[in-house]
Amino acid sequence: MSLGILALQGALQPHRQKLTALGVDVVFVRTAGEISACDGLILPGGESSTLLNLIDHYRLRDPIVAFAASRPVWGVCAGAILMAERVENPSQESLGLIPMTVRRNAYGRQNESFIAPVVFRDAGSAKTEREAVFIRAPSIIRFASSVQVLADHHGDPVALRYGSHLVTTYHPELSASDEFHALFVSLCREAVTNPASGGGRPDEVMATPN
Ligand code: GLN
Repeated sequence: MSLGILALQGALQPHRQKLTALGVDVVFVRTAGEISACDGLILPGGESSTLLNLIDHYRLRDPIVAFAASRPVWGVCAGAILMAERVENPSQESLGLIPMTVRRNAYGRQNESFIAPVVFRDAGSAKTEREAVFIRAPSIIRFASSVQVLADHHGDPVALRYGSHLVTTYHPELSASDEFHALFVSLCREAVTNPASGGGRPDEVMATPN
């Protein structure tokens, strides 16, 4: 299995290290052909308006949208902004992969970035806290009921799942835990063995892998 990291701008190496440690092949992708050869794609953190300009410059918008129709995509911070249907503060275009509205720079300026615990809840009442690095992060202010909240920070959703797609407003690649990368790898493996599970369809039957 080969996972792509969109390598136009932003934080790339920490993702590669975590995925490589999990035993998957990692490719830095910059062309439509490289993207379509992957089994999953990470849209990394960075600066979303710059990323969008570069995506359009290299004519990657349609290839990414086509990829996301049948395979898993994980958007991290700026990548999450790109995946939204609507973006505010200021409003900008996006790829529209997930029915949610995102507010950019919701916690203030770069020097107001912070590290805080976020809470994952299982189907019962058990809670697990994980360290999360927020860097000039967005917040998710609206989302469809078909979008599942995986983790929150003071009640605000910060990690979401939509079909096989994932969104984090923080940077799991910058903390010690590799659990979120392992979750993405398992969704990609599932989509390889069962192609119907790929893409952004909300699938009530498909449980979140441990
Ligand atoms: N503030 C950036 C934006 O709005 C995102 C920052 C990040 O990816 N860490 O695009």
